[in-house]
Parts: sequence; C-alpha cells; structure tokens
Amino acid sequence: MKNKNILYIVIPCYNEEAVLKETTKRLKKKMKSLMEQKIISKKSKVMYVNDGSKDKTWDLIEEIHKKEEYFTGITLSCNKGHQNALLAGLMTAKNYADIIISMDADLQDDIEVIEEMLEKHKEGVEMVYGVRSSRKKDTFFKKITAEGFYKFMKGMGVNIVYNHADYRLASKKVLDELENYQEVNLFLRGIFPLIGFPSEIVYYERHERFAGVSKYPLKKMLNFAWDGITSFSIKPLRFITGLGFIITILSVLVLFYSLIVKIIGSAISGWTFIVCSIWLVGGIEMLSLGIIGEYIGKIYNETKRRPRYIIAKNLEEE
Ligand code: UDP
Ligand code: MG
Repeated sequence: MKNKNILYIVIPCYNEEAVLKETTKRLKKKMKSLMEQKIISKKSKVMYVNDGSKDKTWDLIEEIHKKEEYFTGITLSCNKGHQNALLAGLMTAKNYADIIISMDADLQDDIEVIEEMLEKHKEGVEMVYGVRSSRKKDTFFKKITAEGFYKFMKGMGVNIVYNHADYRLASKKVLDELENYQEVNLFLRGIFPLIGFPSEIVYYERHERFAGVSKYPLKKMLNFAWDGITSFSIKPLRFITGLGFIITILSVLVLFYSLIVKIIGSAISGWTFIVCSIWLVGGIEMLSLGIIGEYIGKIYNETKRRPRYIIAKNLEEE
C-alpha cells in the first residue's frame, strides 16, 4: 500500500525575519518527533511562502532550506496579500503532499495540536479546523473586533467556522477541489466550508506573537471583513431592495401629509421637512449606489481572470 502520510506545513511570510529562526527551531523539533513516532512520512516538509517581503525573509528561507532537511520555500513575484500567498503555498504543496496544514509564521497557532489534527484526519475526515478556545492573550480591542467580525459574517449569511482563522488541515483531495474555485476576491475561510467534505474541529489557545509586529492593522482587517461579506453574500443588495420598498411606502404617507398641509393652507411651514427629506433620500440613494458599485467592482475584477499569484522561484524544483 502506498504511504499516504506526507505532510506539508504551509506558512505565508511577509517581513517575518524576526520570527523565522525561532519558528524553524520549534517546527524542526515537531517534525522530528512526528517522524520518529511514524505519524508522518520522512518526505514531509515545512514550506515557507515569501510574500514579497521587503526585509531579509527570503534570504533566510533560502539559508534554512540549505541547512535543514525538512524545510523548503517558494517566493512570489511581489506582495500579493496573505490569502493569495497562502493559496500559492497550498497549490504548490499539494503536488508533493497528501496532507497540508496551513498556519501563520508567528506561531500564534499552537503547534502542539498538530498531532490531534493528524489523528482526526486518520480517523477519516478530510478537513480539520483549528479553533481558538479563548482570546485571553489578545488585546481587548482585537478580541472585540475579531469576535464581532465572526458574528457579523454569520448574520450576513456567510458560512464560516466561529473563531477559526487559517490554521487548518486539509487533505490533497480537498485542495484539488479548491483549485476549481477561481475567484480573485479570495476569502479562504469562507471557501473551505463550501467545499463541504466531513470536517472536525480542534481547540487551541492562541499565543502572543513572540516577535515582529502584526501585518494586519485595523485598515487591512476592515478590508478583509468587507471582502468576506461582499464575496460571499448578496444580503447587502437585498437590504437595499428592502430599504427602497420601505421608503416607497413612506413616500405615499408623505404625499398624504403634504396634501393635507396644502388643503389647510400653511404649506410654507413644510420647508424644513422638504429639505430634510431631500438630504435623507439623497443619502440613502448614494449609499445604495455605493454598495451596488462595490459589487460591480467585484464583477469587474473577477471577469479579468488575472492570476492570483505568480511564483518567482520554487526551492523544491532546484
Ligand atoms: N502575511 C502575508 N502577506 C501579507 C500580510 C501577512 O503573507 O500581506 C502573513 C504574515 O507573515 C503571517 C500571516 O500572514 O504569517 C498572518 O499575519 P499576522 O500574524 O501579522 O496577522 P495577525 O495574527 O496579527 O492577525
Ligand atoms: Mg499573527
């Protein structure tokens, strides 16, 4: 029987020179122990994806690849963003591996649950989601915004796993299916549940980033949430239709009101009301147009079918 347990751990890295050495040290230990226990094949590797870093990240990755047996990497032509870098890594890794785990470079995701993930996969599920059991280590602000994000997404009808980011195990089978999802506005944590194979959850404590700074400032986070909603849900469009409906009914009432005012003969006093109405309706119209424009923008980007990432170099193919 063919051995089906080559594991690749895919890690997107953007300006991560401060953490790579430590990450490599800890993962090396983990890989060795997994191999010794014969849980994974000796052909297993950690694959770093350099997402157009401006610091020494890629030099470090090349150096690590030369020195360490179980480490490899690819580099993208320029910075393409976390999700695209992750996709590039997943699509490359699946050519060599049977099982692929993705995680962040800063080891905020607890690598001690990898065994549990592999165990669950062995028992027969194709996907295992890593879910944060608590957010004790997060700042108050991060906790509120992040948990609000998941709740809001759910409310908007996007099917995502609560408190699950991009720490997950997926089999090659799942990733072969992922390849058919050709969207440019990539929101991976929304796509995996859509692929829909049986899945399991493992819980872990999220650690603090041990070095370097977050590459997700508030602006990027808001963009990410907005992309997640508009790529997966047409609820905002429905909301506009609903709003238009309500305003139409209201305008009939306003018509009656203004007729009554006219009959009574004190029409001039309605001036304030008219000015307010114009602003209100104008505002709503503009907002609605904006949301519609957002979707048209998405269609525009999707129809171009541009590649989502370009791999400049793959250390596996040298
Ligand atoms: N990342 C990336 N490209 C980017 C931004 C981030 O590859 O444009 C990587 C980053 O190196 C890290 C992961 O995505 O491995 C998550 O980023 P970070 O830890 O900064 O996010 P946070 O944990 O603060 O949400
Ligand atoms: Mg992080």
